[in-house]
Amino acid sequence: MTLFEKIIAREIPADIVHEDETCIAFRDISPQAPTHILVVPKKVIPRVGDAEIEDKETLGHLLLTAGKIAQDEGIAESGFRVAINHGAHGGETVPHLHLHVLGGRPLQWPPG
Ligand code: AMP
Repeated sequence: MTLFEKIIAREIPADIVHEDETCIAFRDISPQAPTHILVVPKKVIPRVGDAEIEDKETLGHLLLTAGKIAQDEGIAESGFRVAINHGAHGGETVPHLHLHVLGGRPLQWPPG
């Protein structure tokens, strides 16, 4: 079971801000910005590069949910970032696909 499956199963506590039949979203335990929320599919796709064509609807749903959460959190107008880390060089630490929704301060580009 991945760490995020344990959060979905309520075996590990999390500050959940959204849940539906496809995904769950909760605040990152180590926030890198005033708003830092993870959007996680209930289906375990390890990382974005492992997604299959049948995951197309799930992937679209995750992006739409990220945008809605940004609206709900009040960061859409000022701006925000959606990031997905794939593999070691990408900075991935949890092998269960997740979108980072970051905002509430200016974010630098390019990332370090
Ligand atoms: P990544 O490095 O892209 O794989 O992102 C994993 C994220 O999960 C990191 O930003 C961690 O801070 C976050 N994280 C790890 N454990 C927890 C947890 N128990 N609850 C919420 N976020 C977590």
